[in-house]
Amino acid sequence: MIGSAERWERRLRGLENDLMRRRTEIAGHDARSAAIDRQILNLAHLRETAMPILRALGDLPREAPWGEWLGHLRALADLAIRDREPLLVALAELEPMAPVGPVGIDEVRLVLGGRLGRLESSPKSRSSGCVFVTTPHRARGMAFEVAIAPGLAERVFPRKLTQDPILSDSERHRLGGALADNERRVAAERLALRLVAGAASGRAMFSYPRVDLDQGRPRVPSFYALEILRAAEGRLPGFDELARRAAGEGATRLGWPAPRRPALAIDDAEFDLAVLDRLVDADPDTTTGAASYLLNANEHLARALRTRARRWLRRWTPADGFVDPDSAAIESLARHQLSARSYSPTALQNFSSCPYRFFLQAIHRLQPREEPEAIDIIDPLTRGGLFHEVQFLVLTALRERAEVPVTQENLETASGLVDAILEDTAARWRDELAPAIERVWNDGIDSLRADLREWLRRAAHDAERWRPDAFELAFGLPDRAQADPRSSDNPIVLPGGLKLRGSIDLVERDPAGRVRVTDHKTGKVRAAKDFVLGGGKTLQPVLYSLAVEALLKESVYAGRLYYCTAAGGYEERTAVIDEPARAAAREFVSILDRALAEGFLPAAPDVRECEWCDYRRVCGPYEERRTALKPRQRLEPLQRLRAMR
Ligand code: SF4
Repeated sequence: MIGSAERWERRLRGLENDLMRRRTEIAGHDARSAAIDRQILNLAHLRETAMPILRALGDLPREAPWGEWLGHLRALADLAIRDREPLLVALAELEPMAPVGPVGIDEVRLVLGGRLGRLESSPKSRSSGCVFVTTPHRARGMAFEVAIAPGLAERVFPRKLTQDPILSDSERHRLGGALADNERRVAAERLALRLVAGAASGRAMFSYPRVDLDQGRPRVPSFYALEILRAAEGRLPGFDELARRAAGEGATRLGWPAPRRPALAIDDAEFDLAVLDRLVDADPDTTTGAASYLLNANEHLARALRTRARRWLRRWTPADGFVDPDSAAIESLARHQLSARSYSPTALQNFSSCPYRFFLQAIHRLQPREEPEAIDIIDPLTRGGLFHEVQFLVLTALRERAEVPVTQENLETASGLVDAILEDTAARWRDELAPAIERVWNDGIDSLRADLREWLRRAAHDAERWRPDAFELAFGLPDRAQADPRSSDNPIVLPGGLKLRGSIDLVERDPAGRVRVTDHKTGKVRAAKDFVLGGGKTLQPVLYSLAVEALLKESVYAGRLYYCTAAGGYEERTAVIDEPARAAAREFVSILDRALAEGFLPAAPDVRECEWCDYRRVCGPYEERRTALKPRQRLEPLQRLRAMR
């Protein structure tokens, strides 16, 4: 066990708090909330199962007599192992050692390691027979209808025998001959072969691997294989003859694990592969329909094969994503129309990258499974959340003290405030999240502090021009804990009928009364310098600006992405909200609206979009190549969107 049971308890609680926090943050996203609820439930199950085991492990003594150890181990087995009978039998065998000790855990592991590593339970009798897998020496005295000995290859069985490098055979002889030497080792190997052969009451089968999979080289049978044939047939064959006989009909090959003749297949998969093997290079004119049995073998396989084939046709079909749906699918899409539910800009951005990605993420709400990762940095989501929270609290505190904007005069006080608020907030998050590695957490907070201080320094430099007015101005996110008082619980309806939800990091004004909307980014710069919608992939500045206009009833001068950390080099990208920008937003809404109304959301990835897409496992590896074969005409609106600045 790493750490103590208390540490595990703390970490699990931290993880639960983290999940709860994320669920609150994404309130309104049904699918993501449901996924997080599932994780919270799984976490509860994990805690219920693991914590008693961890506590029992934590209660193990440092040293104790064997009798006490056996008691602890039985209790542990009760908690952790379902089929514990063989284990209890093995522990019972150690009962005579109860008074011996005290011994430590290392000795207990040493004694039990070998025993528990090869626990065998006798097979229960079944009408169809059963298989018992064991070593030759443990088959001593047993009888089986069929005995199978695999691995009769050179250096495998018998093993390559070498003298002990520390205690050679001659030294062993000098010590009196009680120690094993090569002669005895050879005898033991021969005995093993005899034990297998002797255990067979009906048939004995011997085999050898023809290929060394590690080295990619053919393997040579051992002379045991030759001896067996001599015993069976009265004649000693040569290695060549044996290899020829072994390579007969039933042999499988590297890269195509099936025999040459389908009749020799041992299961369905081998059979299919054996049939397909013949078809791969066959003349299609003479073999048409030869694999058609696959279509009748299983209805799901038939559907999958047909769908796969259709995806490569040079026309759009329902196999290409969400394309030309039936009336029931169109009906169920009605509640996802732009005016029927709200969307975040992040979800909408997926449409331009690939309409099918948008469909899977925003409509099907398919989420990639979270994989555990090595913790060598604070994860970007936590870092971003912490960064935004500290920014919000700092700006709110400064406003309450009438110290907004930050200028060169109050910069030092404001920096002190950043430190104090970061310390408080980080301590609270740390208690809630119980980070696994203290150093990683502290390093992350240090770099956050440096980023926040630099953000503040630059804000002071800019104070003459832009003055903060609203922070975390939210709309359509009713459960948001930290939001500007002017926020709205309802989504904003933009021109064209798009219902938008989100939270705007910062709204500022300049001395001329112009309004600027800012979205803070904590990652690397992604947007181009002269963007408006960035081909439909950078929607926040323009859409958020239009949302502010609707919410505050005044016009916005510009929308800005501010990469306000060292990772983003404190660069900014600004889109002026002029008539072309408004027209671009309307055009975007109308293209997406039409695609949703028609039910045309195909897999049509933009260049290299599949490379890092979460849904690659759904689509497969050839989407860019495959969709390049499709007619471009129906993609024309999408291409127009992608071509927008
Ligand atoms: S893998 Fe490619 S085709 Fe599939 S959803 Fe992602 S971007 Fe679209």
